[in-house]
Amino acid sequence: MKKNKLKISVVIPVYNEAESVPELYTRLKTVLAKLSGKQYELIFIDDGSNDSSFEEIQKVYKSARGHVRAFRFKRNFGKAAALSKGFEEARGDIVITIDSDLQDLPEEIPKFIEKLNEGYDLVSGWKQKRKDPLNKTLPSKLFNLVTGMLTGTRLHDLNCGMKAYRSSVVKDVRVYGELHRYIPVLAKFKGYKIAEVRIKHAPRKYGKSKYGMGRFLKGFFDLLTVLFLNSYLKRPMHLFGLFGIVTLTGGVGINAYITYLRLMKGDIAGRYPLLFLGVLLMIVGVQFITTGLLGEMLANMNSSREEYSLGEELESDALLEKKE
Ligand code: UDP
Ligand code: MG
Repeated sequence: MKKNKLKISVVIPVYNEAESVPELYTRLKTVLAKLSGKQYELIFIDDGSNDSSFEEIQKVYKSARGHVRAFRFKRNFGKAAALSKGFEEARGDIVITIDSDLQDLPEEIPKFIEKLNEGYDLVSGWKQKRKDPLNKTLPSKLFNLVTGMLTGTRLHDLNCGMKAYRSSVVKDVRVYGELHRYIPVLAKFKGYKIAEVRIKHAPRKYGKSKYGMGRFLKGFFDLLTVLFLNSYLKRPMHLFGLFGIVTLTGGVGINAYITYLRLMKGDIAGRYPLLFLGVLLMIVGVQFITTGLLGEMLANMNSSREEYSLGEELESDALLEKKE
């Protein structure tokens, strides 16, 4: 292991949270100094704020003497992009994410570390008493329930901004679009051990929420993506081929029957709707199969991407030539 290796990286997505930044920094600093001495870094990602967030971050950067790093996006790219930049940059063994609006309490960080040390790879926060309006908490409950049922990742608060990871997890799981909501799911699919801890939650003090109800509809589309990526990314034909064959067979069957009517009875006796259905099924069936083939082409071009996550390895150099 390299000397002076950082222990903890805190990734902080910031979008128009100027008022919160100074207080967040002071509180994080206090907690982390106790926890890991000087071995921590705070990574601020300014997600294209149009208030004075970045000026505040700059002030903090100057006063922090090396513990702060900051990145500023040219425009707002979304929380997933911010997190993903932070994950890429993080150099600690443990990576913590925390919202910058002071709704997550920096003082809860030790709980996460403790849980990680029990042998987990990802620890997610659970805001048991959530300080948000009902139009947020209710859809969120539903979201957690459905995701839990469909993916088997049963967490009470999947989308909690506060989470802790072993660094291998953040280097392994790719977040893009709005998939940050599903990091625990993606991590679990890859075989990482996940757990949750109950945390306190504060109402928003400054600024306003960046998300409305719209996120839940998008969230469910993302769920489909996540499910698909997990099971069929590497073998799209298995899914589309199956749909294709079933639909195509249905269509061919129906049209064979229509053909039989026409040839044997002379006319198809009001079976026009059925004829259309048959034709439709055949076309859709062929399309499914073509989609599957295209998918296979993409998967094939992309096949250099890893398909597994390595846990441990026992290596031997018996076959290596010894150069003296
Ligand atoms: N955020 C971001 N980019 C965005 C939207 C939000 O970096 O496009 C950050 C925001 O600054 C905050 C966190 O993501 O630190 C959570 O956002 P918010 O508090 O608005 O969500 P809520 O708590 O209402 O779910
Ligand atoms: Mg918030």
